[in-house]
Amino acid sequence: MSTLASLEKTALAELGACADQGALQAWNTKYFGKQGEVTLALKKVGEVPQTERPAFGREANRIKVALTKAHDDALANLKRKELERSLTEETLDVTLPGRPVQRGRLHVATQVLRRIYAIFADLGFQIYRSREVEDDLTNFELLNMPPHHPARDMWDTFHTETPGVLLRTHTSPGQIHVMRDLCPRPIRVILPGMCYRYEQITTRSEIMFHQVEGLAIGERVTMTDLKGTIVAFARRRFGEERQVRIRSSYFPFTEPSIEVDMDCIVCGGKGCSLCKRTGWLEIMGAGMVHPVVLRNGGYDPAKFSGFAFGMGPQRITMLMYAIDDIRVFWANDLRFLSQF
Ligand SMILES: [Zn+2]
Repeated sequence: MSTLASLEKTALAELGACADQGALQAWNTKYFGKQGEVTLALKKVGEVPQTERPAFGREANRIKVALTKAHDDALANLKRKELERSLTEETLDVTLPGRPVQRGRLHVATQVLRRIYAIFADLGFQIYRSREVEDDLTNFELLNMPPHHPARDMWDTFHTETPGVLLRTHTSPGQIHVMRDLCPRPIRVILPGMCYRYEQITTRSEIMFHQVEGLAIGERVTMTDLKGTIVAFARRRFGEERQVRIRSSYFPFTEPSIEVDMDCIVCGGKGCSLCKRTGWLEIMGAGMVHPVVLRNGGYDPAKFSGFAFGMGPQRITMLMYAIDDIRVFWANDLRFLSQF
C-alpha cells in the first residue's frame, strides 16, 4: 500500500513538471504504457495476500482513475494555454480586407501605339517593322538628304564607332526598306518604332521617342487621299467633330510637304493654354513622296505616286491626358505609369 501511495505522489509531481505535450506523452507512456508503472501495479493485485487484496485493488483502481483524470486535465490546460499564446502572439485579424494583387499592365506608350494601329488597320494599313540601327545612306541620303544637306541639322543623332552606322532619327528610313521589299506592288503601311536624337532633354524634348510613319504608294495616289486619311484618323482618334487644317511646310523627302493641325480638343478652337491661344494643335507632318525617294525605293515616279506622314505618339498622348512633361514616359515611375 505504501508503494502505491508513493507511486501516486511521484506521478503527480512529475505530471506537474510537464511543460509541453511531448512531456505529457512521455509521462503517459511511463505510467500507463504496456510496461507502465500503473499498469504493472494493477497486474500485481493477484500477487498481494488475499486479506489485503480487496483494499489494494480498490486503491490501485482509485489511483488509476485519479491519475488518468489528472493527465486529461493537464493536457486540456496545456492546449488552452497554447491557444491563448497563439492568439496573442500570432495576431490574425480576420476582419481586415485582403491585400490586393498587383496587376501588370501595358505601358501607356504601348497602349496608345496599339490604338493607332487599330485605326490604321481599319483603313487598310499593315504594320511594317524596321530596324532602329541604320546606316547614314538609308537614314539620310536615300531620303533626299545628301551629305552637307542643311536639313541634316534638324536631325542630330547618336553615331556608333562604325563610321556611317547610327541610331535612326526618324522612322522614314523604313520607307526605303518597305519600298525595296515590295516594289513594284502598291504599298499601304504604317512604320512604328523608336527613334533617337542627340538633343538636350527638356519637358518638351527627349533623346528617344516613338514615331508612327505612314506610307501609301500606288498608281493614282493623290493629295486628296492623304487629306482623307488624316481626317479619318483625327476623327477616329479624337472625336467625330474634329476639324483639320493643313499648312505648307518643308521636308526633304516629300514634295509638296504639309503640317497638319487639328482644332483644339480642350477649347474646340476658341483658344486655351493647351493650344497656346491659337485654337489649333499640331498633330503630324506629311506630304507627297518626293520623286527622288520613290526612285530610290525602286518605283518610277512617272508611273507611281504616294503620300507619307509621320506623327509622335508621345505628343498625342500628352495632348490626350494633358501631360506636361515628356520625360515621364521613360522615367519608370510607377506613380505615373499606374494611372493608365
Ligand atoms: Zn485650346
